[in-house]
Amino acid sequence: KSFRNYIISEDIGKALKGLGYDIPTEVQARVIPAALEKNDLMVKAQTGSGKTAAYAIPICELIEWLENKPQALILTPTRELAVQVKEDFTNIGRFKRLKAAAIYGRHSFSMEKAELKQKTHVVVGTPGRVMDHIKKGTLPLTKINYLVIDEADRMLDMGFIKQVEAIMKELPMERMTMLFSATMPQEVKNMSLDYMRDPINIDV
Ligand code: AMP
Repeated sequence: KSFRNYIISEDIGKALKGLGYDIPTEVQARVIPAALEKNDLMVKAQTGSGKTAAYAIPICELIEWLENKPQALILTPTRELAVQVKEDFTNIGRFKRLKAAAIYGRHSFSMEKAELKQKTHVVVGTPGRVMDHIKKGTLPLTKINYLVIDEADRMLDMGFIKQVEAIMKELPMERMTMLFSATMPQEVKNMSLDYMRDPINIDV
């Protein structure tokens, strides 16, 4: 199977080719079609499985270029992952000219604030810093249609779950939510009951 089986637009297809992504990984083959239909998803997948592109490809596909306010919010447990995920979005969205920003602790708040004032399609960040921007009114949430919680089990281990839940309470109800986790402890499963609509479970 190739990415062409998933109605990927020319812009995204060209970017995947440039990255050398020819064949979808297992998690991509299962997540992309379900995400393109805007289902909520609970995905058990390890790092290295291609999970980032599994959510980045459909989100890049679904984003409306003309909208200036952020449409996708990706929450990650660490700044390293935030920066990596931002780069992945930039690479996959290159020919669609998508703009991604990373916001995370111990990074200049004022620089992030200035970046968020520009046209930004995708915001990737750690929960504490995302909440700081929400409280200061520097991260508009009204157009967030896509939420990803990446490495949810690590968020739990690092004590971020309460913050993640507080962020979800601020987001529009009309949205797609995808949660990715290497393991599925009960606290992570509970999030699907409280903050997702009939999520599809995918276990690779
Ligand atoms: P991740 O699990 O998201 O950390 O991705 C692991 C690695 O696989 C990254 O270096 C990606 O660039 C690479 N990758 C993701 N999807 C594909 C694919 N379909 N074909 C080849 N490499 C991929």
